[in-house]
Amino acid sequence: MRVTLLGTGAADGWPNPWCSCRSCSDARTNGVTRRQTSVLVDGGVLLDLSPALPPDGLSLAGVHTVLITHSHPDHCAPFGLLWRHWARPDDPLTIVGPADALETCRPWLAPDAPVELVVAEPGRPLRRRDYEVRVLPAEHEIPAVLYDLTSPGGGRLLYATDTGPLPEAAVEAVRGASFDVVLLEQTFGEKLDHGTCHLDLATFPVQVDRLRAVGAVTEDTAVVAVHLSHHNPPAGVLAGRLAAHGARLLPDGAELQVGA
Ligand SMILES: [Zn+2]
Ligand SMILES: [Zn+2]
Repeated sequence: MRVTLLGTGAADGWPNPWCSCRSCSDARTNGVTRRQTSVLVDGGVLLDLSPALPPDGLSLAGVHTVLITHSHPDHCAPFGLLWRHWARPDDPLTIVGPADALETCRPWLAPDAPVELVVAEPGRPLRRRDYEVRVLPAEHEIPAVLYDLTSPGGGRLLYATDTGPLPEAAVEAVRGASFDVVLLEQTFGEKLDHGTCHLDLATFPVQVDRLRAVGAVTEDTAVVAVHLSHHNPPAGVLAGRLAAHGARLLPDGAELQVGA
């Protein structure tokens, strides 16, 4: 399994283009841009439909399946489906997501497009091109899901954004999973009074511990923090805070090769 991080930022990216706080200024000084969170697996499975263009040189031409977590516009930006239509109108595509996310996509598809829309329901597994997709519940303001994806070539990934503290059912569903990669959101950093269904530097480590306790995260799991906003400390500080909990900070465009 080849995991390419297309974006690791929160809804507004990092730096937020309108902001001049310490974290945004630090990112600008270091030339680090974090796009809205989205991930490409094996060049063929796209997790979330970001409003951002992929990092330089990365192609989506091989994508056959799109897994959308929810309909918030940083995760479900269907304008991108029109870009695809202009380039490859005849190639089949499967889009999986909560029902309202699929309805957001539908007006952007040509009436006769070979695009299949599949409703994601927690507990109902899917199989596409020998990828095993397990849908898990999220804790979010609107209907939202997390994805547990196993590649036919080996390698298993958990994509967990956007969510507050994980629902017990989600943790139970990944008992013994021994993921190769866990991409877990950590939106709010040091801002702990956000009152939203997201994680921060206080709640993120607790979720990692819960996943570790059920054998979903092991010593060999690469735990990567994603959906990062400028409420986080500058990257140098953040990397240390995450490392203390066995998690990593990676830039947009980073690639992880796991499994066979
Ligand atoms: Zn989001
Ligand atoms: Zn959201």
